[in-house]
Amino acid sequence: MRKLLLWASTNAWLRERAMRTRFVRLSVRKFMPGEQVEDAIAAAVQLKPSGVNAIFTKLGENISHLSEAEEVYAHYLKVLDLIKRAGISGEISIKPTQLGYDQDQDVCFDYCMKILKACEAQGTIFWIDMEGSAYTQGTITLFKRLRAHSTKVGIAIQAYLLSTDRDLEELAALGATIRMVKGAYLEPAGVAFAEKSKVNEQYFKNCIRLLAPNADKPGALLHIATHDTGIQDQILDYVAQHGIEKRRYEFAMLYGINTARQLSLAQRGERVRCLVAYGEYWFPWYMRRLAERPANIGFVLRNAFKR
Ligand SMILES: Cc1cc2nc3c(=O)[nH]c(=O)nc-3n(C[C@H](O)[C@H](O)[C@H](O)COP(=O)(O)OP(=O)(O)OC[C@H]3O[C@@H](n4cnc5c(N)ncnc54)[C@H](O)[C@@H]3O)c2cc1C
Repeated sequence: MRKLLLWASTNAWLRERAMRTRFVRLSVRKFMPGEQVEDAIAAAVQLKPSGVNAIFTKLGENISHLSEAEEVYAHYLKVLDLIKRAGISGEISIKPTQLGYDQDQDVCFDYCMKILKACEAQGTIFWIDMEGSAYTQGTITLFKRLRAHSTKVGIAIQAYLLSTDRDLEELAALGATIRMVKGAYLEPAGVAFAEKSKVNEQYFKNCIRLLAPNADKPGALLHIATHDTGIQDQILDYVAQHGIEKRRYEFAMLYGINTARQLSLAQRGERVRCLVAYGEYWFPWYMRRLAERPANIGFVLRNAFKR
């Protein structure tokens, strides 16, 4: 089922049809407060009193023309402005292929650099999502180029990739800000671990690596980006036992997934960020969310029979 849903996430024919279907549009609301950035900001404003901060991402990847990157860049400057006006603690997260990576890597770097400078001026972090494995090394290179200018840039790293142990050594030595995720794409066996238990083991091991004393450099931060409460608890036990300071890590979870846990972590005094996605191009992202928990399909089907 996971493989089928991940395949569906890349199918243009399905995308065009599904995005017009009422019950699919209804179902996506569980994970997305709305298509407009204002909807995402309003959701973050509601979360603020409970101590949960935000990260915003406009859905979209693999743009077709470089001219679209200019719009995405201008959009994120607007988002930073909206965050400031709303008086919330908000970060932004982009995909390199949304900023022209496929068309021209230098142009993509220039846009990232300009957004990073704006984030730095606002004292917030500019996050780079990690896409499929064809982009891993290029995205790490992009990150390192940006990191040479500022510590306010972070990168998502996928625990399921075989290359991650090696990549993390280099990134930890840099004192990089890292969002550790399990990984959301369909990858071949020679590239990624297939067994869930192995991915979980790698995830925990990678987080512990990033909490080691020699990864504690100026600007370094670990985002524990998982809904896996077992792993969250394991890490909480580890930090308590080893006296690791809270400034070194934050929990990050997606909007609409286990909100009760997001609130309870915040109530316990943990730092928590909720990644709020929005935008019209939600189909591939939504299919990846369904693939993470095929039981969500029941919810989609129930909506299909609603009047
Ligand atoms: C803040 C954030 C940013 C991310 N950025 C990236 C990125 O840049 N690149 C990338 O490849 N991946 C990214 N991901 C996705 C990530 O790789 C995983 O696919 C996703 O988080 C599901 O894995 P999990 O760690 O939650 O663990 P899982 O083992 O998949 O899930 C643990 C438990 O959480 C619950 N759960 C998980 N997913 C869902 C869901 N969709 N609906 C309902 N319940 C669910 C289930 O109860 C499940 O038992 C991001 C995730 C987060 C939280």
